[in-house]
Amino acid sequence: MLQIEIDRLNKHYAGFHALKDIDIAIRQGSFVALVGPSGCGKSTLLRTLAGLEKTSSGDIRIAGQSVIGKPPRERDVAMVFQSYALYPHMDVEHNMNYSMRLKRRPKPEIAERTRAAAETLGLSGLLDRLPKALSGGQRQRVAMGRAIVRNPKVFLFDEPLSNLDAALRVHMRSEIRKLHERLQATSVYVTHDQVEAMTMADHIVVMRAGVVEQQGSPLDLYDKPANKFVAGFIGSPAMNFIPVVVGPDGHTLAIDGSDALVLDRKLVPGTRLWAGLRPEHLSFAPVSDGLTMEAVVESVESTGSMTFVTASVGSQHLVVAHGGRPGVEKGAAASLHISLKNVHLFDRETELAVS
Ligand code: ATP
Repeated sequence: MLQIEIDRLNKHYAGFHALKDIDIAIRQGSFVALVGPSGCGKSTLLRTLAGLEKTSSGDIRIAGQSVIGKPPRERDVAMVFQSYALYPHMDVEHNMNYSMRLKRRPKPEIAERTRAAAETLGLSGLLDRLPKALSGGQRQRVAMGRAIVRNPKVFLFDEPLSNLDAALRVHMRSEIRKLHERLQATSVYVTHDQVEAMTMADHIVVMRAGVVEQQGSPLDLYDKPANKFVAGFIGSPAMNFIPVVVGPDGHTLAIDGSDALVLDRKLVPGTRLWAGLRPEHLSFAPVSDGLTMEAVVESVESTGSMTFVTASVGSQHLVVAHGGRPGVEKGAAASLHISLKNVHLFDRETELAVS
């Protein structure tokens, strides 16, 4: 069943077209991440779902009902903001149950829902603290608690972890995901961090300049990016791109500084393409079917478990991500290998994937 349907949605600010013909269908209970570079329209889209921003044209339906023109309180959605937006003079308990008190819900119901949310979030011992006496992670939990007590159909998250340090962020990612599995409510989560999107969401919407570039499961986007932008955005470190040209026979790609790549299909001779090579697919060990490139190692950086090598092939610089220690040294010559099945091709004019 579809919980949220966004049809041909457009949003104009004075003189600026921020959302362009957005179409997204979100299943009930799914966890959707909106990702894209700064300014692409993620927050604007989330705020139109919440009712905090007016739309210019198109429709948004929640549980089958159009919500265009409806104020936020009539949409049955709860939003968790990046800034947490806690009331500084209210303790945790009153921050959490503020919306229920505003709606004059019966006192026993308010007490029970607050207790249950606090227990779910590990806040039971902190109910009488003011926000200033909480850590960043605890404040973030109170912000979530405030959303949970409302028992909404839809949770909207606007970069809720960006004020936390790296370790806490990783921990809270899995907490939010576990909470989602327990509550089974539909969640829409804005982030500019593609790793966060890949690890948390079951459906990712990649946006650029107000347009949806591609949407699908995390692995669909990783395995079959529709264009060069998505290919470069999803995956860390980012995909390497090298310019190539289809040879006269249509079956080979001439690559600077290496043997030609023999294709498993026929392309139009002379077509100019980008070959996309993911750092984790490049290897210093030979592969049976694919491409071998003669490279010079430019730098070697190790994090302990992973080693990132930059190597030059002709005039191109490629990043290689290697589990463990590849045993190569700066300045040394090395052969780089990649399987044919891991080579992505994109048209250099349209930047669309060539299949
Ligand atoms: P970030 O990751 O930096 O938060 P975003 O993808 O969430 O970016 P939005 O905040 O949705 O981007 O903004 C999308 C575009 O709309 C930006 O170019 C922004 O400058 C513009 N914009 C946002 N709010 C307004 C406004 N009130 N008036 C005019 N332009 C606006």
